[in-house]
Parts: sequence; C-alpha cells; structure tokens
Amino acid sequence: QEDIFKNVVSHAKEYGFIFPSSEVYDGLSAVYDYAQNGVELKKNIREYWWKSMVQMNENIVGLDAAILMHPTTWKASGHVDAFNDPLIDNKDSKKRYRADVLVEEYAEKINQKAQKEIEKARARFGDAFNEEEFVTTNARVVEYLSKRKEILARLAKGMTDDLQDVKALIEELEIADPETGSKNWTDVKQFNLMFGTKLGASAESAMDLYLRPETAQGIFVNFLNVQKSGRMKVPFGIAQTGKAFRNEIVARQFIFRMREFEQMEMQFFVRPGEEMKWYHHWKETRLNWHLSLGLGKENYRFHDHEKLAHYANAAADIEFNFPFGFKELEGIHSRTDFDLKAHEQYSGRKLQYFDPELNENYVPYVVETSVGLDRMFLAVFATSLQEETLEDGSTRTVLKLPSVLAPTKAAILPLVKKDGLPDIARKIIEDLKWDFTVAYDEKDAVGRRYRRQDALGTPFCITVDHQTIEDETVTIRHRDTMKQDRVKISELKDIIENEVST
Ligand code: ATP
Repeated sequence: QEDIFKNVVSHAKEYGFIFPSSEVYDGLSAVYDYAQNGVELKKNIREYWWKSMVQMNENIVGLDAAILMHPTTWKASGHVDAFNDPLIDNKDSKKRYRADVLVEEYAEKINQKAQKEIEKARARFGDAFNEEEFVTTNARVVEYLSKRKEILARLAKGMTDDLQDVKALIEELEIADPETGSKNWTDVKQFNLMFGTKLGASAESAMDLYLRPETAQGIFVNFLNVQKSGRMKVPFGIAQTGKAFRNEIVARQFIFRMREFEQMEMQFFVRPGEEMKWYHHWKETRLNWHLSLGLGKENYRFHDHEKLAHYANAAADIEFNFPFGFKELEGIHSRTDFDLKAHEQYSGRKLQYFDPELNENYVPYVVETSVGLDRMFLAVFATSLQEETLEDGSTRTVLKLPSVLAPTKAAILPLVKKDGLPDIARKIIEDLKWDFTVAYDEKDAVGRRYRRQDALGTPFCITVDHQTIEDETVTIRHRDTMKQDRVKISELKDIIENEVST
C-alpha cells in the first residue's frame, strides 16, 4: 500500500498534476501547487460538484465570500476558543503528535484484531456464519471490541474534561512514538489551528485577522442578504467553493491534509424540527453523488459520529478507501441554529426568517455538506491510477479517470509529421476546441504517444493517417479498452460528447 501511495505522488509530479509549493526552495511543508493537468482535473471536480448542487437545484444558489472576514466572526463561530488540536511531544525524539490521534490509532489496531477474527470465522463457517451472533459470543472478539470502546470513551471524556487524562491514557496503554518507540511523553497542550494575519499599515491601528479555517462562516453571515435579495424560501441552500487555511500539525499524506486547501460546502437552511429529515436526505444525496463517478461502491462507507462537535446534533462522515485506508472525505453535519444564533448575539443584528406559510419568525436550522476538493482529487486520482498487464505480457500505466473529469478529453495525433497530416490534425483541433479541452502531439512513435495519453487519463486518442486524406476518416482509440474504431471526422464531436457529458 505504501508503494501504491508513493506511485501516486510521483505520477502526480511526473505528469504535471501536482508539485510541492515553491519547490526551488525545497518546498513548504503540506502546501502544494496544481500544475497544468492538475488544475484542469481540480476545476472539473469543482464544476461537477457545482452543477449537481447549484445548477440542478432551484433552491440552492452560489456565493463567493472573501477569505478575510471580520475577526468577531471567529469569536462567534467558536474557532478562537475551541478550534484546537491537543498536542503531545515525545521528550526523546522531540517529535510532535496529536494526542487524540495516537489513541485513536491504538484503538484502530485493536479493532483490526477483532476484524481479523471475524474474517477467519467467516472463512471457516461460510454461509452459516452469523456475524451479529459471533461478535457477541466469541470471547476474544468481545474483549477486543469492549476494550476499544472503553478506550474511545475515555478519550472522549479526556478531550472535554481534562487533557491530562488523555496523557494518562497514553501512558497507561504504553503507546510509543511511532517512529522511535520511545514512551517518554510531555503534557498535552492545546494548539489553535488558525493562521493569523494583520490588516492595516501602522502598528497601532492594525487589526488582527485570521485566514478563514472553513468557508461555512462566509455563508452564515450572508444568510439574510442572500435570502432577501434572492427572495429565497426555506428550505433553501447556499453553496460555496474556496480556499481555507489550517495550521495543521500532523500534516502528512500528500494532499490529504494540507495547510492551504479548498472546500466545497453547502449550507441548507431548514425549519427547526425538520433538520433530521434533511440530514438524512443530504447524507443519501451526497453518497449518490460520489457513487455517480463510478470509482466503486466498496470504496465508500459512512461513519456516524458518536462524539459531536459543539454545534451539531447529528454528524456523519463519508469515508473513502484511500491508499492508506478508510478516511474522511466529506462531512454531513446537522448544525442546528448554533451559528446563526451566535452571529445574532455577537453582531446584535437579527438573522431571522419570516416563514409566510407558518406566519412566524425563526432562526433556521442548518444542515451542512462539506467536502475537501483536494481530498476528492486524491480519491479520484489514486483510485484511477492503475498498472495493467496486457495480453502480450507488457504493462501499461493508465489513469482511468471518469471521462467527465479528465483534464484533456481527446489528443489529436498525426501518424507522421509530413504529407499534410499535421495540418489535418490542426484543423480537427480548431473544430473541437470550442467544446472540449484537446491536445496536439506529434512527438515520438504513435504507440508511445498513446501510452503518454493513457498516463494522463485522456479518454480518446484520434489519429490522422494517410487514409484520412482520401476519405476524411480517422481512428479513434478508447483509453480503457484500447479498442480502435475508424470513424468520420464529422462524427467525432458526437462521440466525445456522448462519453464526457454528465
Ligand atoms: P479531519 O478530521 O480529517 O481533520 P475535519 O473533520 O476537521 O477533518 P471538517 O472541518 O469537517 O474536517 O472539513 C470538511 C472537509 O474539509 C473534510 O471532510 C475534508 O475533506 C476537508 N479538509 C479538512 N481539513 C483539511 C486539510 N487540512 N486538508 C485538506 N482537506 C481538508
């Protein structure tokens, strides 16, 4: 699995998808740049999301709020006081870890032991296997699962009551530094994840600001502006994509956890009391959106939160099977009226909606869907990257991206650089580029060019050869099957359209 992940990172670099930020200065930790192909793939994911949210829903509208916001926003939202990671240092290695993550990883290992026992029993008993019964009667599994539960419950309590209980738990479980094995820990300290900056020139008048750690608050503070100017009726939603910044301490795993990243969020405003109905609606709708990309149903699962954030009365993650295991891809949260009420309180302005059907004023409840664009990119990219062994025993690297997301939809290749074939290829490009991103390539033998487009995820290669001069036909090669058909130039647009449209 580690190898797969290394491959993903190096493929992304080699083929112009993602580079480390400011690489000439050896990069900046957990910050990345999207290169010529990456920026197209990222844009296509964003558009795919935007279309499903805004274009397809009469009652959801878009917003592009500023990254810089009035600092009181973050007091009201709770980020100034509560957006912290509990950190612990190892005294010997001087390495810093998130205390809760250390404990969670320990609990996950116990869980894996239980799962192994379950799988063994399933293999042994076959169709007769009853998992529900097994996990409540098999002594070893019962012990593993109850130990895990107990640890997580103590962690949750420590996180809310006293962080030093989390340290005590780490010591009791004898959790070691994953890199050095040392068990010599410091106390647990809170660390705020927001990036600070200043507005204004002179030292006295400068105002301390934060780079937004989530896009949601820009939606909340604009709730009434949008509702009134758009004459929106509850239930309605506001969707937004944009950068967010978090000073993540445990920033590993490539673009999975970045310090500067992009979110795609939608806040859905509903009548108080109806939030559970909408929460379930959006859970299902969002999962279906992910499934529509065809990356495989088995790669997704829900994780319902038992431990809820201060603003939520229900929350679930859609987890994806990344190269390093199942991890959060998207969060769906029922945020109650926490945010709007908090902004009312801090601003002294009413953020209420007059419901003409009920003939009353209220602060709406909010159901949020929040997905990381970069995490989506990683999910799509890592799953699509495949090594295939062909019939003749050779291998090829192919990026089987969903066609709708592919950076380039078709590459136009003259078989040779002479006899007027490049001119015909250019003419085809002139015609197609109004509708699709297309590329021209005349370098190397055509087989090598096919392989290069496979590695870039281009769904079609269109080859212009000598027969084209005679009958205005070309070959069109399909990335996944490698099948080639001979078709008329005039048919190309429909063929591509058919494959890449949503
Ligand atoms: P995690 O538990 O992984 O830190 P979170 O629960 O803090 O994530 P939310 O605050 O719910 O995440 O943010 C919503 C989404 O934004 C996440 O599901 C994830 O896809 C994305 N996201 C959050 N933090 C990062 C980050 N540092 N880098 C990239 N994407 C992120």
